[in-house]
Formats: sequence, structure tokens, C-alpha cells
Amino acid sequence: MRKIQMVDLVSQYQDIKPQIQESFSQILENASFINGPEVSGFQKDLEAYLGVKHVIPCANGTDALQIAMMGLGLEPGDEVITADFTFAATAEVIALLQLTPVLVDVDPETFNIDPKAIRDAITPKTRAIVPVHLFGQCAPMEEILEIAREHDIYVIEDNAQAIGANYKFADGRLQKAGTLGDVGATSFFPSKNLGCYGDGGAIFTNNDELAHTIRGIVNHGMYRRYYHDVVGVNSRLDSLQAAVLRAKLPHLDRYCDQRREAARFYNAAFSGHAQLTVPVTMRGCEGICDTCDCHVFHQYTLKVGGGKRDGLADHLAGLGIPFGIYYPIPLHRQKAYLDSRYAEDDFPVTNALCKEVISLPMHTELDEEQLRFITSAVLDYMNQ
Ligand SMILES: *Cc1c(COP(=O)(O)O)cnc(C)c1O
Repeated sequence: MRKIQMVDLVSQYQDIKPQIQESFSQILENASFINGPEVSGFQKDLEAYLGVKHVIPCANGTDALQIAMMGLGLEPGDEVITADFTFAATAEVIALLQLTPVLVDVDPETFNIDPKAIRDAITPKTRAIVPVHLFGQCAPMEEILEIAREHDIYVIEDNAQAIGANYKFADGRLQKAGTLGDVGATSFFPSKNLGCYGDGGAIFTNNDELAHTIRGIVNHGMYRRYYHDVVGVNSRLDSLQAAVLRAKLPHLDRYCDQRREAARFYNAAFSGHAQLTVPVTMRGCEGICDTCDCHVFHQYTLKVGGGKRDGLADHLAGLGIPFGIYYPIPLHRQKAYLDSRYAEDDFPVTNALCKEVISLPMHTELDEEQLRFITSAVLDYMNQ
């Protein structure tokens, strides 16, 4: 059996190697390292793939979130609501801009932000909601967009984990994750579903004016060379990374299919086990279909009952099977984000999830032998 990895980027590279080498050597010959044709080409390709008017590439996903918030003109003291159960970057940029992060609880089935908790957290100071499309499926955007409309506040999608996923509206309409709110942010960190070979990110919007503002912000606040109208940042996607992403983008749907294939194998093995809860896909896609792309399985995350999560983790480690605990500590209990406004019973779901979740190896190269080995190992432990 091939060695099981949490994410296998080497096999994926072998598949696109000639194309990557060709474009890398061209970039090296032209020395077009920054803002070369690969960057504008990738931008256009991604706009077409997502069906969004503007993609603004930048240096990483954390920058993308920060720049989106700067572009919307959020100001110190403004409250921004986001999920307690997410990667810290989401709350970090809010705090960094001296906005006030307001963390709320999530849904126990989908792990995504709970619209009811959002409603309860709204105050006259609330200016934006940042839904995180966690583990590869969209937060309940229809409800979130409705709340935003009612209160006249912005929606900034953290789409770092769900590029390629669709959101399915109640009427069956599909729309790409990251293009539903006022602005979307994503990451091309190597292990994300569309990853480059270093750092990268992008911002999406259908708003022409906002796109213009953001294009200046990523470039030191310049709209005309050496005229600095606003305080900006330096955040660029370089040409080598753009070339990798351009080579991979045409395969993204297939990558998503391969992830779903692995998820189906896991589900078949674990569904019905009394102490295991398989990930729930929203709105009628329980069978994990390939037609609507509602879930792209950035992570395959099980809930382990009976207090057995840590024992299972030890068991897998002993067999050399990698796993992840995303996330072990709720953001509201992280030193950097402590806030006296919170009470422990504001976050019953996140508190429970942090003790129950475990993410199994998930990537495009898992074969049946590996999946059998992983599922048997999990079931052996759970049934002993
Ligand atoms: C990865 C990730 C980010 C940050 O992306 P970087 O490119 O690493 O800066 C932000 N939010 C979420 C939910 C992520 O998973």
C-alpha cells in the first residue's frame, strides 16, 4: 500500500508536470515574475469558472479577507459577526483592522454558522457578517443574505475551504461559493482544494466600484502610478503561482469529484454506526451527488461520540494514519480573542464539536486500498 498522507500533492503534480515545467521555464526566461500574463490569464480563467465579474488576485487568503474588509470601508469599532468554529484567520483580520469580532455558534450538523445565532448577535454597530464555508460546503447563504438585507449590512464570504462548491438555493438554482455575498475571499494555500506551490489568494465581487477600490488597495492604495489615494497594502499573486493555478483550474471539478468519491466510501463505511456521525450535506444531497457540487470536501470530518475521539486519534496515530483535529479550541477561548461579552453557554455546539471532531485523510489521490485500511482502522477501534 502507498503511504497514506493527509494531503497528497506530489501525485497531483506528476499529472500536470509538463505544463507546469513549460510555463515555469517561460516565466524564468521572460523574468515576468510579478503581474505577468499568467496572472491576468488566471484572473480571467477564474472569473469565467466562477461566473463572477471580478477576481482580484492577492498574496494569500488572510490578506484577501483583510482587503475585502478594507474595501468595504469598515471602520474601527464596527462589529463583524463570524463563526466561533473556524480557522483563526477569519477573526484575526477583523481584530487587526480594529473592528470588533463578534463570534457566534454554529450548526451541529453542517458545522457552519447558525443564522439564528447571527440574528441574536446583531446590534446597531453590526456592519458585516463573515460566513465561513467550512470544510467545503456553503453556510446557509439564503438566510444570511436575508438577514443582511434586513439590517443593511455586508456579507463577506470566507471561501478558503469551498472553492468550486455551489450553493443550492431553495428553488434549485446553483451559484458558486464566494460569489453570493458582497465580496468573497479565498486562499490558494497548497493544501486547499485549488492550491498553488506557495502562498496565494483572491477576492471576488460582482460590484464594479468595489472591485476598483480593491485593485488600488492591493497595490499600495494607488489608482494612478505614485498617487496614493488611500492607505493600501502590498499583496500580489506572483506569476509562478498563477501558472500553477492556471494549470490546475481546468481539473478542479474532477478534483472535487475525486474528493466526493472518497467521501462516499467513508460514508458507506461509517453511516449507521451508533457513535459516528458522518458529515451532513445540506439540502437534499445526502447521497453526495456529483451533479450539483454542493460539497467539495475540503475536509472529511466525523463526529465521534462516547468520549472516544482522543482514543481514536491515538489509535490512528499508532497505525501511521494521519488525521486532523479542526478545530481543537473554540476561537472564543483563544487568548487573543477573549471578550467579556461571551458566556460559555453561548457556544454549546462549538464547545461540543471541539471535543468530538476528527478529520480523516482527504485528497484526490486516495485509492481503495488506502480507504479500506483507514475505514477498517476506525471501525476496529470504535467496535472494540
Ligand atoms: C486557509 C484559511 C484561511 C487563510 O488562508 P491563507 O492563504 O493561509 O492566509 C482563512 N480562512 C479559512 C477558513 C481557511 O481555511
